[in-house]
Amino acid sequence: MSKMPVIFVGHGSPMNAIEDNEYSRTWKEIAKRIPKPEVIISISAHWFTKATKIMNEEAPETIYDMYGFPKKLYEMVYDAPGSPVFAKAVKDLISKETAYDNSWGIDHGSWSVLVHMYPDRNIPVFQISVDAYAPPQAHYQIGQELKSLREKGALIFGTGNIVHNLRLVDWHMGSKGFDWAYEFDDFIYDNIINKNHNNILKYNEKSDAAQYAVPTPDHFYPLLYVLGASEAEDKVTVFNKSCELGSLTMTGYIWE
Ligand code: ZN
Repeated sequence: MSKMPVIFVGHGSPMNAIEDNEYSRTWKEIAKRIPKPEVIISISAHWFTKATKIMNEEAPETIYDMYGFPKKLYEMVYDAPGSPVFAKAVKDLISKETAYDNSWGIDHGSWSVLVHMYPDRNIPVFQISVDAYAPPQAHYQIGQELKSLREKGALIFGTGNIVHNLRLVDWHMGSKGFDWAYEFDDFIYDNIINKNHNNILKYNEKSDAAQYAVPTPDHFYPLLYVLGASEAEDKVTVFNKSCELGSLTMTGYIWE
């Protein structure tokens, strides 16, 4: 079995689920290029909880955790199977206290991207929640603890946005970003390419732009799991490096 890459995707607007655009086309190409996973372990910005939860259903439901979008989005069903077996492996590997929880489902952070990457819905998928109260290092450590699953065919998949400030969204900006948005996205880029993960874990101290780029860490923390699961010898590639509406970056990374 070939060792799986790890991926962080900037998911952006839920509308990407039903659009054919440069982002969705890139996601499709990536899925075609990498080995076929046995399972997808998704860490989505949208399952932001107290403590770390793991979904272990046979057939997780699709959930619609967004408001005011066209009907077509609420008809989207991502009915891939779950994986109780891999969920148990995840639970056994994470040293932090965790709990099984099936009150959530496959949320739009996951399905808006997976409908493009794996439209056949035949690869098992489940989510791990992002503990809102844990410090950056704790998220990174979970990634490190799950690293060995890459050799078992698991695709560790983080979905969020590196720069995500909905309060400062400016529709007049179109596909441009504010200076601080590019500054923070570049700060992360440089540290990913130079494999200086410590700077990323200390993003709040190391980048003045962080206060605008990451006003709340929900969309940023999924990156830390993927970083933790990466290896020093992995080749890193950036994709969809861009900014939308002033304050959202779509930048993604793959380590393989
Ligand atoms: Zn989101």
